Amino acid sequence: MDQTSNKHESATGILVSTPSRSTKTNCWSCGDMRAAHFCRQCGKVQPPAPVDYFTFFGLPYRLNLDPVKLEREFYNLSRHLHPDINAISTPQEQEWSLQQSSSLNDAYRTLKDPISRTEYLLRLQGVRMEEQSTAATEDARRTGKAKKQVVPPDLLEEVFELNMQLEEARMNKKMAEPDRSLESELRDTKKNLQTKYDRMMGDLHGAWNDWDALVDLSDQGGNVLEEDRVTVREKMLGVLNRRNYVRNLLRDIEEVLE
Ligand SMILES: [Zn+2]
Repeated sequence: MDQTSNKHESATGILVSTPSRSTKTNCWSCGDMRAAHFCRQCGKVQPPAPVDYFTFFGLPYRLNLDPVKLEREFYNLSRHLHPDINAISTPQEQEWSLQQSSSLNDAYRTLKDPISRTEYLLRLQGVRMEEQSTAATEDARRTGKAKKQVVPPDLLEEVFELNMQLEEARMNKKMAEPDRSLESELRDTKKNLQTKYDRMMGDLHGAWNDWDALVDLSDQGGNVLEEDRVTVREKMLGVLNRRNYVRNLLRDIEEVLE
């Protein structure tokens, strides 16, 4: 956004700052200044550089992104990086082209989906989803406290009741003795949970806005506090864990109602 953003990068951590665009080198083939993946002058594909998916697209680490723009950029890059374009003449270029195309596809697939985009950003932030839940499990075992992130507290009662109903319904299914009123209760519960599930995208968007505000602050040369970064990160992680938990419950209910 402005020229001061680079000097604040080290103070705020690179993962909140917009990737620097000042690291361009010259095209290996014609010597002109190149775009990251292909030369805008001669069209030659460039050696792949190890960058994260946001940087691959030249995007800041913002979670609100325009899917139409992303798609347009995807097709634009695809055209230039495709192994069949005429600018490619050597096996080396062919290989670079394949690697670049493959990274492009991975980057696009990851960033276009709101959930995988969020999970990817959290991974870049050093959060491992599985480790996180394992750590939570061990912590709960050690301290005897409930695993807040695994079973959302406001669902505890509902889940306890639901698990008993599911067990009964599974038994009925096995004996081929359907209980219509139990099934109807399960359908009601499913509807409630589905509503909660759908609302979670709203919660996630709220956390995105908080995160993007930090990115903007950093881009404008402001100082992003580590504790603010961690707070927003935890918020996103909380929504994702909650969402996974409810999705599993919905799957369990669907299974017995089949
Ligand atoms: Zn060139």
